Amino acid sequence: MIKVRDLRKRYGSKEALKGISFVVEKGEILGFLGPNGAGKTTTMQILTGYLSPTSGTVTIGEADLLRDPLEVKKQVGYLPENPPVYRDMTVKEYLNFVMELKGVPRKERNNQLSELVERLQLTDVYTRLIGNLSKGYRQRVGLAQAICGDPEVLILDEPTVGLDPQQIITIREFIRELGRDRTVILSTHILPEVSALCERVLIINQGEIVAEGSPAELSHRLQKGQSLRVKI
Ligand code: ATP
Repeated sequence: MIKVRDLRKRYGSKEALKGISFVVEKGEILGFLGPNGAGKTTTMQILTGYLSPTSGTVTIGEADLLRDPLEVKKQVGYLPENPPVYRDMTVKEYLNFVMELKGVPRKERNNQLSELVERLQLTDVYTRLIGNLSKGYRQRVGLAQAICGDPEVLILDEPTVGLDPQQIITIREFIRELGRDRTVILSTHILPEVSALCERVLIINQGEIVAEGSPAELSHRLQKGQSLRVKI
């Protein structure tokens, strides 16, 4: 579903991505694990068309990101690490606004809205101001905006950061559920997060992919002190 080849990103003299390549299969929830500053957000922002790479290629489905960024944006839903919070909008107003931005045809909006409000259990807060919601509910709204337009691919950057343990469990359940009919990349610096949700994980450190495997294999290697060139 997603093919990334020799992706590089330079910020001035800082080489944030040093030529990473990977593939994500259709329907997979891939973990993208790495410490702070590893290059995760840079990779996620390139895959979602928010940032241009210095070089390399990305294809999502049949679309080439560099040649056809609009087509790629339609296929990808994105939950950024620090999503903007529209405190003065109700959930209903905000999700309608996102539908408009994503160009979802008017006649499809009501059906899509009721489906995603039900899937993310937002009915009770649908007419409340986002600024008055708990962080856990705001993150559910973040997931809801990411699936507006029914994209095939979902890119989630640190989706449970700052949440309490109960909220983390709830958000992970929603991610598992949304991953049933989508391809998902889950970026995180927390090993238990990928253990809970992913069958396969890539570890990125200092702009390079340094290991790949199942969460169990990688945690076993880390426990045995084998070098993954990364401590998590
Ligand atoms: P975190 O979890 O802390 O967000 P990350 O793995 O997402 O880390 P990135 O944010 O992609 O890492 O950053 C990769 C490297 O690129 C870091 O060294 C960072 O300081 C640098 N970097 C990121 N954005 C910029 C920028 N706009 N200008 C200069 N350097 C940047």
